[in-house]
Amino acid sequence: MTATDTSSLPKRLEWQFARVCDIVAETRRVKSLVLQPVHWTGHLPGQHIDIRLTAEDGYQAQRSYSIASPPEDKLLMVTVERVEDGEVSPYLLDELRVGDSLELRGPIARHFVWTNGLSGPLCLIAGGTGITPLMAMLRHRDRSSRRTPAVLIYSTRSLADIVYREKLDAMARSDGNLHVVYTLTREQPKDWTGHRGRIDRALLVANCFPPAQNPAIYVCGPTAFVEAVSGFLVELGFDPLNIKTEASDHQEDEIMANNVSDLLLGGDAATRLVQQLFVPDVTLAKVRCEACDCVSGVGALTVYAGPMGAVLNCADCDNVLMRVVDTPQGLWLEMSGTRSLRF
Ligand SMILES: Cc1cc2nc3c(=O)[nH]c(=O)nc-3n(C[C@H](O)[C@H](O)[C@H](O)COP(=O)(O)OP(=O)(O)OC[C@H]3O[C@@H](n4cnc5c(N)ncnc54)[C@H](O)[C@@H]3O)c2cc1C
Repeated sequence: MTATDTSSLPKRLEWQFARVCDIVAETRRVKSLVLQPVHWTGHLPGQHIDIRLTAEDGYQAQRSYSIASPPEDKLLMVTVERVEDGEVSPYLLDELRVGDSLELRGPIARHFVWTNGLSGPLCLIAGGTGITPLMAMLRHRDRSSRRTPAVLIYSTRSLADIVYREKLDAMARSDGNLHVVYTLTREQPKDWTGHRGRIDRALLVANCFPPAQNPAIYVCGPTAFVEAVSGFLVELGFDPLNIKTEASDHQEDEIMANNVSDLLLGGDAATRLVQQLFVPDVTLAKVRCEACDCVSGVGALTVYAGPMGAVLNCADCDNVLMRVVDTPQGLWLEMSGTRSLRF
């Protein structure tokens, strides 16, 4: 199997144990865990895993963490930021030791994936630990002989909060096709000559590839950050279908939550979403998956909510069948993962 060949990925996600091989301090609030799962058949840059902790009394808590390592690495890396009163992140940062085991399942979701095979320039926009899945993409890109022109625009509170700073700077120094732009929102060193404040339209115009070049754009960070940046990008004329978003935080509302099962909206949501786009009744429509060729009713698809709409996945192999992107400029339907839709 090649690094990005997913033909042998498991169809159903099962929990498995992974050994903690290393723990790396990245910043004062962030550590990376290097893990060796018992069975790992590969992942794509941008996917995430779920980690599940079980207490002695049987109480379980599970959270999602983006994969920071590229598919080419044998070991899996996740990068965790401390949430002070959190249930899971303080345990992962303070209690977990090298040699311990933890439970995980994955890789999960294909709606936020980039591989070297995709054409066009790459524009990555991160807020805080939203850098994690983008780092997997940059590491994957770095391993390739064909380095797509790329820009990373990365917003953190202070210089000390930039995760992977040395690695990013080293990548940018050795690669003329990679441009890294930091912006510090709260504290800047006295001699800081870089950007200050939040990412805004001007920063995007000055650093993104222009819309005419059709860059593939990936935005990851807290929900408010993702919503603001993707809104600016749409206003600036970037094709909404080229903008992929992932919220890396936990939201209080009932749709966005901190584990995949809580992101599921249910079969009725799929028919309601697709109904908006088609006059014929889609309740009985059948979708054929481009990846595994299985046929399922629209109501049986797995639906994930996202900041810009929703992603409808094959219930069998988790391939992204359709993306519904909802913007002030209109509703968009992308169906590249669907072989056919029969009414
Ligand atoms: C697809 C996906 C990928 C993710 N990838 C990463 C990753 O790579 N690295 C990472 O560190 N986290 C990531 N997360 C977030 C992670 O799943 C947990 O939500 C986070 O670690 C907090 O869990 P906790 O149990 O410590 O806190 P909880 O017990 O869940 O939360 C405690 C309190 O803190 C609030 N809170 C939770 N998360 C945050 C936050 N990020 N910022 C501010 N307040 C918060 C909650 O609303 C609550 O009030 C990801 C989430 C998703 C959905």
